[in-house]
Amino acid sequence: MKIETLAIHAANHTDEASKAVIQPLVLSTTFERDADGGYSKSYIYSRSDNPNRHMLERVLAVLEGGADAAAFSSGNAAGMSVFQSLEPGTHIIAPDDMYHGLRNQLKTLFKGILKFDFIDINDEQVLRDHIKPSTGLIWVETPSNPLLKLTDIKKVVGVAQQHKIKVVCDNTFASPIGQQPISLGADIVMHSTTKYLGGHSDLTGGALITAAKNEWWEKIRQVQQMGGAIPSPTDCYWLVRSIKTLPYRIRGHVQNAMQLAEFLEQQPQVERVLYPGLLSHPQHQLAKEQMLNFGGMLSFVVKGDKETAMQIASRTQLFTHATSLGGVESLIEHRASNEGPDTKTPQNLLRVSVGLEHIDDLIADISQAINMI
Ligand SMILES: *Cc1c(COP(=O)(O)O)cnc(C)c1O
Repeated sequence: MKIETLAIHAANHTDEASKAVIQPLVLSTTFERDADGGYSKSYIYSRSDNPNRHMLERVLAVLEGGADAAAFSSGNAAGMSVFQSLEPGTHIIAPDDMYHGLRNQLKTLFKGILKFDFIDINDEQVLRDHIKPSTGLIWVETPSNPLLKLTDIKKVVGVAQQHKIKVVCDNTFASPIGQQPISLGADIVMHSTTKYLGGHSDLTGGALITAAKNEWWEKIRQVQQMGGAIPSPTDCYWLVRSIKTLPYRIRGHVQNAMQLAEFLEQQPQVERVLYPGLLSHPQHQLAKEQMLNFGGMLSFVVKGDKETAMQIASRTQLFTHATSLGGVESLIEHRASNEGPDTKTPQNLLRVSVGLEHIDDLIADISQAINMI
């Protein structure tokens, strides 16, 4: 079946007890034992598993073409569970423009526990030069945040496999509708479900999807269930609901982003537009090969400084000046000031999460904001 169908049906079946067409929300934290003391429905206590989480994990695994999925209370909790599953002393190679929240997590919480190098993993020689006997994981994030740089997943997987190194891909920006890292060889896919999967900026969540149920995955399950950074049944319920419209939402995001990128590229106040769908994107060819669409995120660099960028962000009416992404409403953000002093993001860059408003209204709004400078 195609992804639109799977998004609707993979996590839903008529509830046998009530004949409800939509799976009920089960808030109970505990489940009754059978007469013989067993658990024939396999639910015991909701930190370990819960019907709503179970169905969310199923649809996530199906959408990413994986063998299993684990849901978490945030994207950072999902990422942390990967790091916690590694033996102390393991060396991690991560991109130099890794999502700042996870980069800071490694540097702060895993200092002295894991070793890590933040490098340009797209440069094959640099990547090979950083591989050590203790390297256990290469972390990939593509397209990257907020520079929209692509990483060639197949190429990285090729190098990693030669050294029996695992590859995790943060697929948050692309969503499962825009990119399927497992089909390109990644071992695990990570999502902040706070973003496109949730899609309405009203819940926080994360997920890991594995290509294979192996020993490593068992360890990750252990971290999920013993660590307890799990999503509530209610959040799982809303996520399952949102995922049903994900394929159609992504189509709208992509269509609007392409048009907005083309518009911005023609504006004299704009120095550069970073969007994988543009011919001017240095990795446009790779984007065509590796991605199923070009996504709904773009960044643009304005002619001017931090002040200029801030003024534009404060003048938009429809685009809200706020962080995060993937919701139906458009957001614009001065990214450098969010990322802190060690950021590589230019001060005159604005990141845009292109929403599902009508493109004419979005263009009119951004146009009046940049015309004032
Ligand atoms: C938001 C985000 C995360 C972290 O997810 P949270 O749900 O905020 O914890 C990780 N990676 C990327 C690319 C993100 O955009």
